[in-house]
Amino acid sequence: MKLHWQILVALGLGAKRNWHIFIALILGVIVGICFPATYYPLVHKILVIVGEIFIKAIQMIVIPLVVSSIIVGIASMGNSKQLGKIGLKMVLYYTLITVAAVAIGFSVAFLVNPGVGVSGFIQASIAESVRHSFEAMQNSGHGLSQILLGMIPQNPIASLANGEMVPIMLFSIIFALALATIGDINRPIVSFFESVFATMMKITDWVMVLATPGIFALTATAVSSYGVDIFGNIGRYILTFVIGVIIQIFVTYPIILKVFSKVNVMALYRAVAEALMVAFGTASSSATLPVTIACCERRAGISNKICSFVLPLGATMNMDGTAMLQCIAIVFLTQAYGIPLDLPTIFFVGFLAIVASSTSAGIPGAGLITIALILNSLGLSHEQLVEGFAFLFALDRFTDMLRTMVNVMSDTVVAATIASNESEIDYDLLGNQDIQKETV
Ligand code: ASP
Repeated sequence: MKLHWQILVALGLGAKRNWHIFIALILGVIVGICFPATYYPLVHKILVIVGEIFIKAIQMIVIPLVVSSIIVGIASMGNSKQLGKIGLKMVLYYTLITVAAVAIGFSVAFLVNPGVGVSGFIQASIAESVRHSFEAMQNSGHGLSQILLGMIPQNPIASLANGEMVPIMLFSIIFALALATIGDINRPIVSFFESVFATMMKITDWVMVLATPGIFALTATAVSSYGVDIFGNIGRYILTFVIGVIIQIFVTYPIILKVFSKVNVMALYRAVAEALMVAFGTASSSATLPVTIACCERRAGISNKICSFVLPLGATMNMDGTAMLQCIAIVFLTQAYGIPLDLPTIFFVGFLAIVASSTSAGIPGAGLITIALILNSLGLSHEQLVEGFAFLFALDRFTDMLRTMVNVMSDTVVAATIASNESEIDYDLLGNQDIQKETV
């Protein structure tokens, strides 16, 4: 069988194992189409509440999980040479995957030319309705320097309370590095965080009971609020992104796994299918993190050491799907406005997309905020900026679901590759996913 068919079968088998979540996704789309929010506000309201219950429950796990997993992960590596090696590999693989996504995004966009000849792609009333949020966002200064400064945890407790992922991670890394250097006196703290980590994974199992109704409701509300008629006008834009995503999943990841690891791509995809569906339903890499860790440890056989270090960082910093969409969006808008993109500008936009995507938090719509950073540098008029942003805003949920799925998938690809390089993967478990290893 051709590799691509095998990959499809593997994804299908993964979905079959989690058939209830898969059915929930499909039913969510159908119910969303049949009950548009404007005509059925009560149905919409109920669905919003059900979706919120699931997303809040899963978000509740994220911060203690990220802190404890980073601390346990780094402390368990102990010897700083291994940590440095794994850290370096992680940065290299994440960068490689995002550069590939940007290159694919640009190539497909210049082949399909989604914005050529397109005009009036957003209704004036919609553009007007987002004008204020866009202007407020511009004034609030989401410049690169503010974003970089915002990463430093001036007050780690405040960052924890406000759920600021990047400062939290940075502090956890520094804390764990220091902990690793103080010798045996660190045992009580490390044991404490090991218990926290195990407990959070147990809570994840409990919260996943809500996954089926939660994902059904989230998908239904996404479809019912934005409608599907929107796809008619801008079919080529969506198509460009979908082609880019398919290339990333069926070509880039298999090549990376083949060249840099001994991991079988089909086995990995099958193992992590549940996390991919949760990512699609929630549009949040961070909220999916507990499930991503569970799939990677229990089904893909990746050691806790690698999962607990590589996956939390990936959920916030590795956003290849987001970077790809940002490049396609820029090509679309510049084509629609007849602004030529020369090669240096393309490289510059690509570079900005890599930076902007990796500074996006793993939450719904984060990539939309950072895209403003790129739009601002393109010389569009204020009106065009508002209109362009409104367009991206109107389509955001659908593209967000897809790009989050890609973001999570690449986290697992990088974790598996590093685990394979470091002999930190249990191939028997990866090959036989009908056995679920109880890791926590
Ligand atoms: N929602 C995406 C994620 O969580 C980020 C984004 O592109 O908005 O991975």
